[in-house]
Amino acid sequence: MCGIVGYVGYRDCTEVLVDALSKLEYRGYDSAGIAVFENEEIKVAKSKGRLADLTAKMEKEGMLHGTSGIGHTRWATHGEPSDRNSHPHGGERVTIVHNGIIENYKSIKDFLLGVGRCFKSDTDTEVIAQLLDYYYDGDPVHTISKVVREIEGSYALGIVFEDFPDTVFAIRRESPLIVGIGENESFIASDVPAILKYTKNYYLLEHDEIAVLSKYSTKIYDLHYRQIEKELKTADWDMDAAEKCGFEHFMLKEIFEQPTAIKTTITPRIVDGLPNLEECGITPEILNGFSNIHVVACELLCTQVW
Ligand code: GLU
Repeated sequence: MCGIVGYVGYRDCTEVLVDALSKLEYRGYDSAGIAVFENEEIKVAKSKGRLADLTAKMEKEGMLHGTSGIGHTRWATHGEPSDRNSHPHGGERVTIVHNGIIENYKSIKDFLLGVGRCFKSDTDTEVIAQLLDYYYDGDPVHTISKVVREIEGSYALGIVFEDFPDTVFAIRRESPLIVGIGENESFIASDVPAILKYTKNYYLLEHDEIAVLSKYSTKIYDLHYRQIEKELKTADWDMDAAEKCGFEHFMLKEIFEQPTAIKTTITPRIVDGLPNLEECGITPEILNGFSNIHVVACELLCTQVW
């Protein structure tokens, strides 16, 4: 899991993205990054580590200034946590943040390498960015529809095209994504708490719906480029309740998140239908030497002795 956010409006985008990401850090936290339109050019800042490491880096190397952009906190599935594997990914024309796993990334990467493309990271995410750039025909919605027909797996994507400053595009399949609607500003986020400080109104994006966010309007399309009218929802919880997603307390929420957490951890390590833990140094020979496996867990924030 990880967190993605996006903003288009009138506020300082870096401040909004960092603040919104701080509400999503529970989803993933091995790296963080943002892409901001600065004078109609996409500028990127990213760093291994926590959000605080990203802000420290920007304070040292220069803050990004603009009123629209996208952001990410990463929980690595493909490629070690590092500056180069941190999101956003992309090039001059298109830059993306991604939550999820692209199952057929290898075959797409081989195709792109075959047509002379070079990769800067080890992530599955970069194949989406490169494929968007490869198919880009001047029409972002058309290009996104074409690309998602070729990728298999789960994704929530925040996308910016250099030709379309101050516009953020988004799409999701399996991974969660909402579109927040404020007064002369719009947001995308993996979870409602990220936007609650700014607006309580949001759309729930369904599978393969494409959102196009600009300062004064937000439109949603299906993959056939037909505009969709959606019900605007209003969050009626406060921030504390929102962060617990309706559960009575955080421990209960974490218990219910376990199936997704286990799936996310194991899925990228499945080879030929079976888990392969060799990249973690656990070979079949080592496993064969075990007679028992004890699963030991600990609740770090435990405040009560049972
Ligand atoms: N699969 C992507 C990566 O490893 C995204 C992981 C995430 O959802 O944070 O970079």
